[in-house]
Amino acid sequence: MIDYLNSRSRAFIVATAGAGIVLLGVIDYLTGRELFFSIFYLLPVSAVAWFVGRRAGLVASVAAATCWLLAELADHAPYSSPAVPFWNTSVRLAFFVIVTLTLSSLRLVRQRQESLMQFIVHDLRSPLAIILTGLQTLEEVGGERPDQGEQKIIAHGIAAATHMQILINSLLDLPHLRSGKMPLQMASVDAKELVESVVRNIEPWAQRRQMTLAVECGEGAEPVRADEQLLSRVLTNLLSNAVKFSPSGSTISIRVSPAQGEMLAFQVVDQGPGIPSEWWDRIFDKFVRVEAHDQGASLGSGLGLNFCRLAVEAQAGRIWLESSGQGSAFTFILPSVNHRSRRGWPLGRSSNRAI
Ligand code: ADP
Repeated sequence: MIDYLNSRSRAFIVATAGAGIVLLGVIDYLTGRELFFSIFYLLPVSAVAWFVGRRAGLVASVAAATCWLLAELADHAPYSSPAVPFWNTSVRLAFFVIVTLTLSSLRLVRQRQESLMQFIVHDLRSPLAIILTGLQTLEEVGGERPDQGEQKIIAHGIAAATHMQILINSLLDLPHLRSGKMPLQMASVDAKELVESVVRNIEPWAQRRQMTLAVECGEGAEPVRADEQLLSRVLTNLLSNAVKFSPSGSTISIRVSPAQGEMLAFQVVDQGPGIPSEWWDRIFDKFVRVEAHDQGASLGSGLGLNFCRLAVEAQAGRIWLESSGQGSAFTFILPSVNHRSRRGWPLGRSSNRAI
């Protein structure tokens, strides 16, 4: 998590810690020697050392020790020597510095572990691409001498490898999306064309499960301002979930329609089990999986919806879930090309409702 904080969050932590240190100094002075408040200086110092880094932690340590010293000097405590408060301050400072150095070292180790994981995940892409290409070649060759059993195995292999590819790309992109450092290729994207191309990729899988994918793209569906790749992956994730969790024989609708405020709404509606209300608050969080759905579907990661939310919000949109006992409707809105604000700032946090 530490790596995912953007500069605004870090600045917020530094400002809050600074205000906290000053406030503690004032409380320390007002309560005098009777109440022991000073231990709380460790909170802002630790927060800065862990979330912002070693240098800022050391600055916070000096600020905390100085505030503590000022409170003590202002209190005019009857010490045997005037040097005592300064000696005390040195001891406290040394303590804060030890805490800061320990936390920042732990932070560094964690960052290295995370980077290593990223490298490993990244390196999985090449062998997977080779496997996928091999399977696709086999599928093409198989078309000339069809064998139902073989074809089925190859199709399963392709679906699994494609799913793994999406997962790997999500794992690689999530930290960048969280820190706001994901480079986006924002352009005018034809919503209808994009939806049709995503549906074409998912259709073979849906057909194997005897499902119907119904695209409803209204007249007013203007192009959106989005990163085409990212948008296509959001739709792929939502559609894959709909196929994965819905019963065979059911229909999945993909609707594109204009929404208020020069936005375009994309909606994926399925006839699956729905998502109970107690999960709504956290369904877009990392690693969340609805336990009741685990039995039927293959094991997932709980990363897909988190990726969707971050990707939609990075493109100045909003995503939410509407669900009842029967079926789920995932809707996200993105600014159309005519939207007044052309900057990539989120318009607000996503939230869920009942239908
Ligand atoms: P994954 O599908 O890889 O587990 P997601 O983040 O995409 O991860 O989804 C999180 C959880 O939300 C899923 O495990 C599932 O329990 C639930 N879920 C997502 N989409 C649907 C849906 N269309 N119908 C029912 N449950 C869903």
